[in-house]
Amino acid sequence: MSILLKNCKIVITQNKERKILKDVDILIENGKIAKISKSIKENALETIDCSNKLVMPALFNAHTHSPMVLLRGYRDDQELEAWLKDVREIESKLKPKHIYAGALFACMEMIKTGTYCFVDMYFEMQEVAKAVSELGMKAFLGYGMVDFGNEEKRESEIKETIKFVKSMEKYSPNITPVLAPHAIYTCSKELLNWVNEFAKQKNLLKTIHVSETRKEVFECVKSHGLRPVEYLYKIGFLDENTILFHSSWVTKNEIKLIANAKSKVVHCPTSNMKLATAGAFPMREYLESNTIICLGTDGACSNNSLDMFREMKFAALLQKWFRWNGAEIKAQQVLDFATLNGAKAFGLNTGSIEIGKQANIAILNLEHYSLKPLLNPVSNIVYSATGDCVSDVIVEGKFVLRNGKLVNIQEEKIMKKFENQVKDLFRLNN
Ligand SMILES: [Zn+2]
Repeated sequence: MSILLKNCKIVITQNKERKILKDVDILIENGKIAKISKSIKENALETIDCSNKLVMPALFNAHTHSPMVLLRGYRDDQELEAWLKDVREIESKLKPKHIYAGALFACMEMIKTGTYCFVDMYFEMQEVAKAVSELGMKAFLGYGMVDFGNEEKRESEIKETIKFVKSMEKYSPNITPVLAPHAIYTCSKELLNWVNEFAKQKNLLKTIHVSETRKEVFECVKSHGLRPVEYLYKIGFLDENTILFHSSWVTKNEIKLIANAKSKVVHCPTSNMKLATAGAFPMREYLESNTIICLGTDGACSNNSLDMFREMKFAALLQKWFRWNGAEIKAQQVLDFATLNGAKAFGLNTGSIEIGKQANIAILNLEHYSLKPLLNPVSNIVYSATGDCVSDVIVEGKFVLRNGKLVNIQEEKIMKKFENQVKDLFRLNN
């Protein structure tokens, strides 16, 4: 299998020098980038004219709950506690058929907006894996564990996790299972300790929500005498295989603990702003500590989009607004978060367009109004482009989106299934 991207007008390489190339060809062979140069002569199975295209690394969505796209627009504009109560109530009605339809739809939305890989936490994750595999994406999937301190529940969650990890073997290497205890306030110390041991035993990554809201921090201090990150450090949960979602309400000391442990953080600016978790992610301090920052959309119920282009924009704007400084964060830095850092944090040999790297590529249509004028392509990508600019997506050397259409499944089928399951879930009559 080989693809030749001919006459690429602009290539955002994301290489060490962050070079932007003009009018070059890119040859993709066996899932990898084999050659980048002017006028490549080799023949490829497929040759695509990119003379009016911008070619860039595809995006990595480092935190979402994909099936929650079923609940997009559900109970918006409420206070956090009321929102959570309503969402949990409808989530208790979700069946595997809903999860599958939701995950298919979410994968479609992510592919069409230039994302090749995502990190998910939810339940009925076998259904999500099916969807990911059918659409040809990559994903890190975690069964969201909660025990609320109940021993019986803990045992069943552990069994479910072991079963889930085993069941993902058949999807390797495109789908990788991760361990996903939900949060400190929903998981006992015993459960977190088990996760820690199991992760070491099986060499798995651990993901967890932490310090998303101020309330959560106060409650942790009240019950454990420590702030959330201090608590995770004390029980030995923080290491280089730990990925912390949100981690916004943290002190400088907590950032030091994260940095020393080489844990990674995932910032979800839109969800934080929409749910009014207050304050802002301390990006400057994380950058100073050399912690790897990734970007995620969170679920479509708290975003309400899975478009990583929008997420990059909000990540930059939030910091500028928060620090009263237009120069606080640059477009190039947030593009790094959404490409190189996702790959680095999750151990993938990709995130840039360089020879030998796995070919995960998004191709943007330069005819789109938001890419004109193109005085600074990276600035256009972060501040004016949306997923609507994406025409093609390549995952590991294979097209999954071609001329705006999914390659592996008919979009109409996904839409129909999704609409039927939304009707079923909400008992709508028309
Ligand atoms: Zn989340």
